[in-house]
Amino acid sequence: MRIEADLHTHTVASGHAYSTVTEMARAAAEKGLKLIAITDHGPAMPGGPHEYYFGNLSVLPEEIFGVRILKGIEANIQSNGELDLPEKRLKQLDFVAAGIHRYAGYENTSKTEHTEATIRAIKNPLVKMITHPANLYFPVDLLAVVQAAAEYGVILEVNASSFDRFRLGKRGSKELSLKLCCLAKRYGVPLSLNSDAHFHRDVGNIETLSPVIKEAKLSERDIINSSFDLVEAFISRKGAGRQRCVL
Ligand SMILES: [Zn+2]
Ligand SMILES: [Zn+2]
Repeated sequence: MRIEADLHTHTVASGHAYSTVTEMARAAAEKGLKLIAITDHGPAMPGGPHEYYFGNLSVLPEEIFGVRILKGIEANIQSNGELDLPEKRLKQLDFVAAGIHRYAGYENTSKTEHTEATIRAIKNPLVKMITHPANLYFPVDLLAVVQAAAEYGVILEVNASSFDRFRLGKRGSKELSLKLCCLAKRYGVPLSLNSDAHFHRDVGNIETLSPVIKEAKLSERDIINSSFDLVEAFISRKGAGRQRCVL
């Protein structure tokens, strides 16, 4: 599976990532990617950027080294399902992803609560993608989440970093990701295979997802970031999140 876009990458601004926007873009260009979303963590993450960082992203050009740069965020879903950046800032961004993280304003402990918070984020019309929903730290009712994503036209991510040797069996698992992929296919929910790179070397690297891609029989039709044009079309939809996405 070849991807033309990586919709989940972090820079030094996240506080626990190690490359600059320029380094990320250069690495993406070298790998033949056409687009990356810069999705640094929201302010609730320890060491994360102040909200002004997101307000000033407009100083960045639309393309660096020929790679389209989406100015985005990986907002931290809070215990009540809200996000950790004011709406006026979220509206200024090209791409709002949201996920549940430890130590970043999320205190719930039950699967029911994780599911409710995730679905509340899905219903937020500014949210375009949920990051790592197949997450063993915060297990959700995947069927309910997939059904909500189908209804509100939100992308669900299959996260390549969940499979790396440090996180194996923790943040994600092959079984959960397989279930996510199969349900997403059944309900026509767009999937995105992303690196979640915290260092430029890892941009666009979804190697760890190969077994899942094979077993879930994913085709390019199922994967929105297999095509630059599909991503652009999705992003340019005004008020996205209320309209079902048909790949
Ligand atoms: Zn994350
Ligand atoms: Zn991330």
